[in-house]
Amino acid sequence: MFFVLPVISAAWYQGFRFACALAASLSIMRFTSNWAWGFPMSYDAALVNNVLRAVTLMLVAFLTEQLASQMRNLKKRLNQLEARLPVCPECGVACRHDGQWMPLDDVTPLSTTTPPGSLCPECERRGYDVQPG
Ligand SMILES: [Zn+2]
Repeated sequence: MFFVLPVISAAWYQGFRFACALAASLSIMRFTSNWAWGFPMSYDAALVNNVLRAVTLMLVAFLTEQLASQMRNLKKRLNQLEARLPVCPECGVACRHDGQWMPLDDVTPLSTTTPPGSLCPECERRGYDVQPG
């Protein structure tokens, strides 16, 4: 746990290479500190233990980086899809297939005729102006 959280954080925010370097550094640091203060087990067992630790941490880094990449792609795709919905940009209500404007959670199915970015009647009445971009 002491080594896993920094590796997960590094993989999520910095990427796989940095997390692998951190995993290797932490394992080497652990091995050298064991060397300096005396191994709690035989040298060979400590060596195998640290190599397995490094490989496991790199696997965690790989999986975390894959998850972070998928999350970024899904967020990007969600933003693209939200831009295509007939949702009022001012208050967030959506236009239903029958032309009524309702909160987005209550709407199924959505209108196919209302262009994305259209103001709802309430916001049009209040005189909001859609800002480009
Ligand atoms: Zn509105």
